[in-house]
Amino acid sequence: MRRRKMLRMLGLAPLAGGAVLPGTAGATTATAAAFKGRDFFAELGVRTFINAAGTYTSMTASLMRPETMEAIRYASRKFCMLDELQDKVGERIAAITHAEAAVVTSGAFSALTLGMAGILTGKDPNKVRQLPRLEGTGMKTEVICQKGHAIGYNQALTNTGVKIIMIETREELERAIGPNTAAMHFLHINADRGKIQHEEWVAVANKYGIPTTIDIAADVPPVSNLWRFNDMGFHWVAVSGGKALRGPQSAGLLLGKKHIIEAARLSMPPRGENIGRGMKVNKEEILGMWAALEEFVSIDHDKEYQVFQERIDRIKAAAETVKGVTTQVNHPKLGNCTPTLNISWEAGAMKADGNQMREALRKGDPSIEVMGGKDNLSITAWQLMEGEDRIVARRVREVLQESKA
Ligand SMILES: *Cc1c(COP(=O)(O)O)cnc(C)c1O
Repeated sequence: MRRRKMLRMLGLAPLAGGAVLPGTAGATTATAAAFKGRDFFAELGVRTFINAAGTYTSMTASLMRPETMEAIRYASRKFCMLDELQDKVGERIAAITHAEAAVVTSGAFSALTLGMAGILTGKDPNKVRQLPRLEGTGMKTEVICQKGHAIGYNQALTNTGVKIIMIETREELERAIGPNTAAMHFLHINADRGKIQHEEWVAVANKYGIPTTIDIAADVPPVSNLWRFNDMGFHWVAVSGGKALRGPQSAGLLLGKKHIIEAARLSMPPRGENIGRGMKVNKEEILGMWAALEEFVSIDHDKEYQVFQERIDRIKAAAETVKGVTTQVNHPKLGNCTPTLNISWEAGAMKADGNQMREALRKGDPSIEVMGGKDNLSITAWQLMEGEDRIVARRVREVLQESKA
């Protein structure tokens, strides 16, 4: 009997009383085993590449850590109630990030939408159903934002029906605040492009009793940004799960005040009559996100930065061996905080431009993606796997050499 049970677990013996349905949880692992070593991308003819570009959605952004994959695999084998899991994981994430409450969303973009929905609707189920129609509902209609903070991702906010009111100075801000003001939104990565900094933003908002919201999607590391803005008093913080956090690319975090997070969840699955039903995360993303966050806060970020720096130095040194090439390493301070190598060249030194060089790197073996424009290449090392910096260094040198006039 025990032997039979063991064989069954291994997928080698049928269940007593009938065959197992193929594909069910208790089914044979024989077919799954065949999937194990399968090279799906090769089968499909999908190009894979070394990512020396960064965390771009179009390039599938980041690779999940083994710890995250363990959590996802675990989740894939058991049922639970979706709300209960969000409650419990939310408590853990809130504790890590100094927030009153937290919820796993399907990305920073959906965190922005759902967070704004929570502010607009409160816990009124009628209002939840009415979004994105605000007129005649009693809901507020405007979100104030600094001109320098206005980017395309504001669409996440306007998807709830609100209008963005753009201001530049403190005087304009105080004049713009009125009975229709739902929130004051801040974009951390553009903090240096606005006249008003975080503390003042929150102070003015508090004076008028307006909720403050902040997008820090790409702005960890530093790890302290995960709690800095909750400590500062922002009503909610939106974080991308699949950038440097290396959680599921289809996950993000909404961290903030308890009453708003609870309200935001009314616009999320499993509830369906709302604007967020399509922004679903299931147990796999929820557990994966939590695991990724736990891992992220536990790693030595100084040491990791040093590793990225060493990789960048290696690529830089290789590029510099080519005559006419100049390099510079930048250290972004607000977001995408990783050593970033800029490679450019003297006028007339190259017969190929940056676009052609990137095409050559893309078409090489192995294929490599970097960023940049017509007159430069831009490289980061934080999404490279062990040893790939040497390959990138060699290929960048070769391509620059071949591109010489
Ligand atoms: C990447 C990004 C987003 C969107 O994040 P997702 O997790 O991909 O939804 C929003 N805002 C800013 C500033 C970003 O950089």
